[in-house]
Amino acid sequence: MKTDEIKALNNQCIINTYGDRKLAIVRGEGTKLWDAEGREYVDFFAGIAVTNLGHCHPEVTEAVCRQARTLVHVSNLYYIEPQVELAGILCKNSFADKWFFCNGGAEANEAAFKISRRYWVQKGQPKPGIISANQSFHGRTFATITATGQPKYRQGFEPLLPGIVYVEFNDIAELESLITPEVGAVILEPIQGEGGVRVPSDNYLKHVRDLCTRKNVLLIFDEVQTGLGRTGKLFAHQHYGITPDIMTLAKGLGNGVPIGAMGCTNEVSSGFGPGSHACTFGGNPLSSAAAVATMKVLTRPGFIETAAKTGDHFFTRLHKLAKKHAQIVEVRGKGLMVGIEMKDPVAPIIGRMLDAGVICGPAGPNVLRFLPPLIVAVAEVDRVVDILDAILGEAS
Ligand SMILES: *Cc1c(COP(=O)(O)O)cnc(C)c1O
Repeated sequence: MKTDEIKALNNQCIINTYGDRKLAIVRGEGTKLWDAEGREYVDFFAGIAVTNLGHCHPEVTEAVCRQARTLVHVSNLYYIEPQVELAGILCKNSFADKWFFCNGGAEANEAAFKISRRYWVQKGQPKPGIISANQSFHGRTFATITATGQPKYRQGFEPLLPGIVYVEFNDIAELESLITPEVGAVILEPIQGEGGVRVPSDNYLKHVRDLCTRKNVLLIFDEVQTGLGRTGKLFAHQHYGITPDIMTLAKGLGNGVPIGAMGCTNEVSSGFGPGSHACTFGGNPLSSAAAVATMKVLTRPGFIETAAKTGDHFFTRLHKLAKKHAQIVEVRGKGLMVGIEMKDPVAPIIGRMLDAGVICGPAGPNVLRFLPPLIVAVAEVDRVVDILDAILGEAS
């Protein structure tokens, strides 16, 4: 089908939650994408931090094909070999002792909220309250739009989940004042993604950890976007020398094959027992095999370190660009999670980048966001920065 035909059928048969789009992407390889007319693009968004290894990574593709010929699905009424292999790899490479698998980020956060509430009930001291940050993003289910500290995602969906309050990100004093005896968990993205690529101030997360420990509150890190090498470490919290009690993953975990995960300490894992939570597709053979292959590549010595260096180069070039163009308010992020706050809305810039063959996206109205695959070459970064430089030059 040509783009026009795809668009027409879309508009006829698909509920309009995504609005008008310019492209239909039909093929990908590494950092490259092609549209229905065969035009090539360089991908600096990775399907929103999903295809971290690049499109159709040969090892993931091979694992998916092999698994598809062997066993695509079996329920969690049986042990699932690729699922336990994946859990073993995640345990070996993180603070977490135990895992629960699901289909995506919102479901992983739902599991995190459910296990924290039930953990305190099991301990005989129910405290259902959850604190979340303003400008956060945690998903689109009822619990997760409630936890998302941006009113636009909640409008029209009330009544919401009771028991969730919001704190200003980076304000440790406000957090302390909000931790009442009813509060059982705090959820934060180590670096806020959708809310504008907001980086924690020095020692903030360490102070949050200390506070949660002191007040006996569970700390949940939503690493759905920041995890899996995106920020230059396997998990973003590893930059800050602390660990949460619960961590959620999704986006990059299967390099495009849908899978989510919630990991926690042995202590917290007691919150769930047989029958307390479940997911039909959670950790099924196909998605787990994709995630095992993805994790094997991500944890290969030097893989994430190389991406981190490419990210450093990207930031060095962008900081120079910020000195040159007055439209740039601030360059933020870590590793290959890059946000550029502009004075004006970024939609026109994203459109012009696309015209120049570069796919990138927003993080809120005024923040331009780059999330290239971690395999991106320094030369590709240079080319994209040069294109952005030219576009900003024309605009001024
Ligand atoms: C994308 C995202 C989610 C939601 O993930 P879905 O798979 O779309 O449900 C949750 N938290 C963060 C930080 C995200 O970036």
